[in-house]
Amino acid sequence: MKLSKYFLTTDTLDEVGIPNKRIIFSTRTATSILVDESIYKDLIESNLANIEPGILSKLIDKEFLVSEDQDEFQSIVTANSAAKKDGKFLSMTIQPSANCQLGCHYCGQLHSKHYASDQVIEKYYERIVQLLSDREYRGLSITWYGGEPLTGYGAIRKTSEKLISLANERGMAYFSNMVTNGLSLKPSIFEELVEVCKITDYQITIDGTAESHDKRRITKSGESTFDLIMKNICDVSQMDIYSARNCNISVRVNIDKTNYQYVDPLIDLIREKELQSKVTMYFAPIVDFGGNDAGKESLDKEFFAGKEIEWLLRCYENEIKVKVLPSRTHSVCMAENRDSEVLDAFGNIYACWEFPYSESYAQGDSLIGNLFLPKETYNENATLRNWNEMLTSGATWCKTCNHLPVCGGGCPKSWHEGTPACPPFKFNYKDKLLLDYYIKKKNEVDKENNEVDKENIEVIK
Ligand code: SF4
Ligand code: SF4
Repeated sequence: MKLSKYFLTTDTLDEVGIPNKRIIFSTRTATSILVDESIYKDLIESNLANIEPGILSKLIDKEFLVSEDQDEFQSIVTANSAAKKDGKFLSMTIQPSANCQLGCHYCGQLHSKHYASDQVIEKYYERIVQLLSDREYRGLSITWYGGEPLTGYGAIRKTSEKLISLANERGMAYFSNMVTNGLSLKPSIFEELVEVCKITDYQITIDGTAESHDKRRITKSGESTFDLIMKNICDVSQMDIYSARNCNISVRVNIDKTNYQYVDPLIDLIREKELQSKVTMYFAPIVDFGGNDAGKESLDKEFFAGKEIEWLLRCYENEIKVKVLPSRTHSVCMAENRDSEVLDAFGNIYACWEFPYSESYAQGDSLIGNLFLPKETYNENATLRNWNEMLTSGATWCKTCNHLPVCGGGCPKSWHEGTPACPPFKFNYKDKLLLDYYIKKKNEVDKENNEVDKENIEVIK
């Protein structure tokens, strides 16, 4: 056996009061383990005979150790392809409106007052029926995106009713989520979205407190939106249906040099409004959108990664749920899944949800086709569908990167635009491993369930 190359480690933890130990992380299985320094030394020096059989078998089980002759990159690529081939869910993104009330400076879309007509809705349905016939799927998953999807609420409702009936007729599971600016997410609409359209997960962007949010996420006529969005989040998250249907709102914060100072007070405000058990939070750097220069005020990646640790810790202290460590990912995103498509309000089909309505990508090689045209005319090699070839050819850094099994390559569109897509985890994994350990140690339930060998090794669950 050999030590897997898909392996990360913290420094020794002496300085944080855990002497002679460190945390190691297998990106192949997304498992972190607290080990004695002596075991770590035996691992990197290949003195496996010194390691107790019980511990050795845990390290093999969690793929820290793999067979000597294994081509690990190939093994990851093969496992990813098999997972995609066996995928039991058809995942589609529908953008039923080309309109949005907001005029955020970093958005790369051109908005117009166009919404999916009944004819387009019928074509959504026909396309999904066609894709479902290609394989034995057990479920259908729909993401609603925009423009602002709720400006096309009528189309969402009609399409959902048809697709839910289809899933029911076929005995398939049905899941749905929405990326919305939150302006129209009133309790009465929310109730219908959950009850009728089965949309239970929502992503809403808030760019800091009102002081920064209202300079960026303003309406096209320049009006502020912070108070209304926060009110909607508070109102809907207090509804009985929110808890009864396990709904979640994920608050996304888009961050650059001009607003990172407003993230701490936003976290405090979420707590003040007692939303900590209702919402989750995550932090995203602002990047260019097809050459729109939105990333000109981007934070340096390492600086962002350092701030992210502070924000995650602050969330933890305020009892706001966050995800600290990445999971094993078998697919970077929809772009590489040939059965996963984005359908826009005109019936256009794309591989990436940032393509519709954008100046750079709406036409040309990025367009797979249009639902009103025969499928023989569709471009199977549309932009980003070749991600697997890009990955295996070594055109990006990912082929030799030990983060690949949990990262997948970040964002194919970003690489396509010539920007490395490495997520903050690449820069702050040591701190995240420690933070994750610290959080789990504090959690009584996880503590009880921990698989612990107190002497030498501890799998951190
Ligand atoms: S290519 Fe990037 S922007 Fe497009 S769907 Fe994938 S992750 Fe999202
Ligand atoms: S995007 Fe960056 S971190 Fe992710 S696999 Fe590629 S090189 Fe590694």
